Amino acid sequence: MASSSKPGFFARVGRKLKSDKERRKVENPAKLQKRNSEAPPPYFEYGQQDVNELGEREYSIWSETSTLVGGPRDHTEMLHGLTHQGSFDSLIADSRLATEGPRAQVMDTATLRRLHEASERKKRILKRLPASVCKRVASFLDPADVAHLAMTCRLLLEKLGNEPFDALALRENRHHRIRFLNHMDAQFPSHLLCFPCGTYHRRFMTGSEKLRTDFVNNPIFVCPKATSSVLPRMRLTHGRQLPYYFVQLATRQAVHSRRYGIDPSTLSRKWKDPLSDWSHQSRYMIHDSRLLLRIRSQVFASPKLTPTGERKLLYDPEEYTPFFSVCAHWRDGVLMKVCKCALSHVPSPPESLLDQMKKSPRAAALEARNLMARPDFRAKQCEFCAPARRCPACPTEYLVEVGVAEDPKDPVNRFKHVLVVTRWSDLGDGKSPTASPEWAAINGLKADYDSFSNVGRRAVAGTFESQMSGCIPGQRMISLNPNNKKLGEEGHGWY
Ligand SMILES: [Zn+2]
Ligand SMILES: [Zn+2]
Ligand SMILES: [Zn+2]
Repeated sequence: MASSSKPGFFARVGRKLKSDKERRKVENPAKLQKRNSEAPPPYFEYGQQDVNELGEREYSIWSETSTLVGGPRDHTEMLHGLTHQGSFDSLIADSRLATEGPRAQVMDTATLRRLHEASERKKRILKRLPASVCKRVASFLDPADVAHLAMTCRLLLEKLGNEPFDALALRENRHHRIRFLNHMDAQFPSHLLCFPCGTYHRRFMTGSEKLRTDFVNNPIFVCPKATSSVLPRMRLTHGRQLPYYFVQLATRQAVHSRRYGIDPSTLSRKWKDPLSDWSHQSRYMIHDSRLLLRIRSQVFASPKLTPTGERKLLYDPEEYTPFFSVCAHWRDGVLMKVCKCALSHVPSPPESLLDQMKKSPRAAALEARNLMARPDFRAKQCEFCAPARRCPACPTEYLVEVGVAEDPKDPVNRFKHVLVVTRWSDLGDGKSPTASPEWAAINGLKADYDSFSNVGRRAVAGTFESQMSGCIPGQRMISLNPNNKKLGEEGHGWY
């Protein structure tokens, strides 16, 4: 019985396998045909599982590749991908990683020979491609992408010639040139891309660059255009500026490694304004490869200031700009009104009890009771000036507070009220002062930034404070410019 059932079982299994094979053939004839007609070169089995024998990556809507989803396509990445798939070195790297792990040291000569043959075969295919076809393909790309294509290998450089690089040298292609050079950032740890020149300059204090007030006379690289062009920079406070190359250095260090830049915390400073009583404190941090800044400025505020007294306290009399740190849109909206409103809440200092007793003993007793009721002597801000404000045109937020601080110079009234203005800003990713949307918006170079849709639910202030101190400011956040009128200097109310 057992001996008669065995052949029947194998026959059934055989029939099943055969029918499965035929079914697969019907479902996917091309794939089976390719596999049967021409065995794929062995190197495709290392890592690159979805690469076919022509070196093409196969995408299907069911695969887990992220190319079909997730934002706009980066053509430069695509071109680099093309060359890396064709390059002999990357094939070796891929196969080593797949077969032996990252610590692979040796590879047998047979595998090397096989990889070399595959690379040579691809070179022959590329060689047969007419130069006119390459140039036709290049005509659909922008100048930076054409230059990247020409840089990918010697064969493509021969076919495309020097034209892509001549095009990048043209003045009208300046932003393409910057984009092209930005992609090389990882190759130049000891250099920094200079935007006025459109070239990389050698850093001569690699890793120990310091932010100085007189940064023009303390450059971090020799730039031939140092005196004939305006270095990209932003105003921090009255008399202080931040050159753009410090944003580059801080973000490069975060993206690559220590050799590429500096620690953002080394940019933090504390200083006192020489022309006024304002004192400032700046701090920097990296979040999501972008540099975030917080500047806290404070000044002793007297109670019951007149409108002239308020202006004297808030504005630099020469430039008519606030002494504290502001974005380019400070004149639009209610920032200065909020500051003046906060100043109006500064309470008068209590009269001494002796003075009060001289006037009226009954009032003195009442005042003493009030002082007991509010011993901290805090100013109470109103609904208008208490909330934090977000600039709708750039990633900047403000918080205006009235606090109490010690004045060591005053022996009689040691504790006084201070007006504290805190500004948080996202300074961007350091890629370019004109192309980085955050930097361009903060400095008023572009007017198309909408901070409420870009910054999202968590404010810059919330991100900064949660990472620095572990707690988020409790104030609610409302718009700095509720009417969204952009009148700039023409507007009323900013002075
Ligand atoms: Zn330069
Ligand atoms: Zn108020
Ligand atoms: Zn702004």
